[in-house]
Amino acid sequence: MKFQPGLSIFRVSWFFGLLSILLALPAFAKEPWNVSGHENGEFLSTQMQLWQDDTGKRGVNDAYRAFVRGEFSDMPKSDSTGLKAGALWGHVRLRNTSDEARLLHMEYVDHQLIYLDVYQRPWQLEDRSLAVPFSALANISMLAPFEERPVAHHRFVVPVTLAPGEELELLIRYGSADKGFFFPKLRLWSPENLRQVQVSEVGLMMFIGGGLLLMVLVALTVGVATGQRLFFAYSIYAIAKIGMWWTMVGLTHQFLITKDFHWSYMSINGALVIASGIWFSRIFLQSRRYTPKLDYGLLLMMWLAFALVMAAMVHWEGLAVILITILLLMYPLICLGGILRWRQGANEAGVFAIAWGFLAAGLLAQALRDLGFVDHNLINYYWPVVGSFTEMMVIMIAMGMNLANLRRQKDDAEYRYLVQLENRKSELESLVKERTRELEKAKSAAEVEARTDPLTGANNRRSFYRLGASLLRRSIHRDAPFSLLMFDLDHFKAINDTYGHGAGDQALKLFASTLKEEIRETDIFGRIGGEEFALLVAGSDDSVVQTAERLRKKVEQLRLVVDDQEITFTSSVGVAHYGGETTIDDLICRADAALYQAKQSGRNRVVVAADAEGKSLSSVPG
Ligand code: GH3
Ligand code: MG
Ligand code: MG
Repeated sequence: MKFQPGLSIFRVSWFFGLLSILLALPAFAKEPWNVSGHENGEFLSTQMQLWQDDTGKRGVNDAYRAFVRGEFSDMPKSDSTGLKAGALWGHVRLRNTSDEARLLHMEYVDHQLIYLDVYQRPWQLEDRSLAVPFSALANISMLAPFEERPVAHHRFVVPVTLAPGEELELLIRYGSADKGFFFPKLRLWSPENLRQVQVSEVGLMMFIGGGLLLMVLVALTVGVATGQRLFFAYSIYAIAKIGMWWTMVGLTHQFLITKDFHWSYMSINGALVIASGIWFSRIFLQSRRYTPKLDYGLLLMMWLAFALVMAAMVHWEGLAVILITILLLMYPLICLGGILRWRQGANEAGVFAIAWGFLAAGLLAQALRDLGFVDHNLINYYWPVVGSFTEMMVIMIAMGMNLANLRRQKDDAEYRYLVQLENRKSELESLVKERTRELEKAKSAAEVEARTDPLTGANNRRSFYRLGASLLRRSIHRDAPFSLLMFDLDHFKAINDTYGHGAGDQALKLFASTLKEEIRETDIFGRIGGEEFALLVAGSDDSVVQTAERLRKKVEQLRLVVDDQEITFTSSVGVAHYGGETTIDDLICRADAALYQAKQSGRNRVVVAADAEGKSLSSVPG
């Protein structure tokens, strides 16, 4: 173009007129999206301009006037706007350059939006007057029955039809109840492509729901079998998860609560998941006992989860969204608990930490996406869901380890108990043995005592009679002859009288011990009266008489020293050979008679009794 000198006023005013139009154009200058009919999830991003209505009360005409005033600005770099109050408006142009009519599905990519309203009118550069008004293309609300949606999809989808060669401008209102995250970049699909992706998404969610349900059943079965609280907590946690993920991605609205769905169900469900998850974790990690400081953090999370339930119930969307975001950011605390317990030596806590790591990574991805730090895509959209599912599977493994641990502990305890029992048993046995030995000793001591004369240690009268009777019986059977020797100390009274009773006692002791030394083991010796002793020996011939004589002599030679005085004493002996008597008394009678003879004939001598037929006594002089 070539400038001529001397431009006319008309030309100048035309030039400025055009310039002013061009200056106003930036708002109009975005290129339209050329509809191909093969759209496969492309984002409407560079073609879109945005305007924030903080009041949330402006209508489509207000939005258009703001657009004409150039108040719309380009899309933010990130997909999410971050947490915003009120409503967000978008402006975009769509053009169909083909000579066929085109149907386009525009999808809102997230689940948190409450209202999506789309208005359309034919695009015309020259008319900014609203002489041709915008008409409503779609008014979708999370609070409305599902069947009112123009496209049956678990997210918001708006169908747009473009006639051959038609170009439309759209004003799109993204509305929250109070505050919300907006993902203004709409995705464009051909209906066929959208349906295919939707089938895979619903398939994934069915798989995850079914898998979680299976884990619930397994945990319940184990819970009933073992009576462990842990498994019931897990079941509740898993049920809450099924509810939450189905609600979050919109399937609850699509299939379960189709009529009266409310956004607060998402928050309430989310809060229940957090509360039950922390309940489960506190049991699993035994955090109150082993990591008390961290347990305070977990308790705080539980309280925040309850606050979230309250906020959702009174429909404070902004507070609910803030609480959810805080809670998501606190999730690594649970992971940390697992790591701490693992370092304290609980291996299953390590596995638990890995499980929560999967979930935390997913939730972190979601939080970063919501806050606009990373772009939206189907991977980070479903990451929390898949991470959550993986978490539940890995926790199942951790619980298995926990169970195996418990069984091992139980086996150990049982073994220790058995060993202890065995030790106690043998302790008890040896104690009983020892006691029995003591008792037997005491018994035999008592028996000996009962048989023995305490002064001399010889058999007492009763014992002597019993032993004598059994010897008598044995001799009758075996025809083994024996004899009875009766001893009586001579003038013993005189010893007592002269040297005292103590000296008499000592004389008795000396006499008894001397006799015991001199006789055979098999002979029976007893004290049957004060200073009278009896002795049963084998044989019935002269050898017995010689024994009697030997003993008498031995006594005669004894010297007892009391108070430097030497005491001697003698004994008289009556001998009776067994002669067919039936009682020991009869034999004693005969020996007594012989003893009497010995006394009579001068003492300190042995006299042999007449035999049973009454043959004469024989005497051995002392
Ligand atoms: P004899 O030669 O006739 O047998 O005269 P004796 O003095 O031995 O007979 P007697 O039967 O008159 O006396 C027996 C004495 O033995 C009387 C009693 O005091 C004494 N005596 C009996 N038992 C014991 C005793 O256990 N210890 C003492 N020191 N003396 C006893
Ligand atoms: Mg006497
Ligand atoms: Mg005497």
